[in-house]
Amino acid sequence: MESSTRRGILRASVAATVGAAAWNAADGADAQPAGSSGREAAQAVRPNHDLHTHTVWSDGAHPIPLHVLEARAFELDAIAITDHYTPGSRIAKSEAEFDAYLAEIERVRSGQDDVIVLKGAEAAALDTAGRISLDAAHAARLEWVLCDLGGSSEGTLRNTPPDKQKYIENVVRTYLALCDVAYLDAIAHPFNTGNTKPAALPEDYPQRLLKELAAKMADKGKVFDVMNDTIYWFHKAPIAPRELTAQYVELVKLFVAAGVRFQVSSDDHRTGLGNTRWSELVLARAAVPAGQIVDPRQIARRRKGT
Ligand SMILES: [Zn+2]
Repeated sequence: MESSTRRGILRASVAATVGAAAWNAADGADAQPAGSSGREAAQAVRPNHDLHTHTVWSDGAHPIPLHVLEARAFELDAIAITDHYTPGSRIAKSEAEFDAYLAEIERVRSGQDDVIVLKGAEAAALDTAGRISLDAAHAARLEWVLCDLGGSSEGTLRNTPPDKQKYIENVVRTYLALCDVAYLDAIAHPFNTGNTKPAALPEDYPQRLLKELAAKMADKGKVFDVMNDTIYWFHKAPIAPRELTAQYVELVKLFVAAGVRFQVSSDDHRTGLGNTRWSELVLARAAVPAGQIVDPRQIARRRKGT
């Protein structure tokens, strides 16, 4: 195990160096934000993980063995399997289902050492006060816990306030409260608020609120999930895709400045494991430094030690 870990680290660092060089060459100077130095750009690293994915244990397309096989074939450093743990979902239905889910991940991941596979789940916020669909006891058996705003999130995506300012305040209040959930690792696709009526676009969020949230996320160590298919959450919104990207990049910059850490993900249901091209565009344009991108090897080591 020790030698394979070392091998993994070596391989990952080489991949990161090559990836960064290729990225900077391909993306060119126009992708750099105004005011960023060449040195910052040189430090930009392409992450090689996918820390938010679904399988047939919730609404994903593939069973765990095929999912992990793909991760190995794509030579990803790490994936997190984060099936939905929400009211009525399969792994939340019974202890037996939850046990079977974890046992299958364990069985499949232990048969290989190509890719780190984290046992995870995606919870949902239930209200604006920080109540979520996953409790501490179940979270203790997981290695990567996400929480999103979804159809069961009262006051935001459920029973959305007709007043946009109230809606926006509720969204930020919910995220601030999620920061206090100790066992939560990452906020899944933050600001996925485009398909509601009213829609809240990234530029609608006041900087004052965003800075308050960014400071708390940094302080509490909550990771910002830059999810590749963010456009999904805006397909009913009156915004062109490239405009959404530009607005999201500006928003992400505030979180970079506060020291928040980031992950990338496909949120794979049907879009493909490891498909993080848009996420990488955003990280590069927001000049997220390598030190603010989560390192799944550290997560795996930390979890093993506890
Ligand atoms: Zn998801």
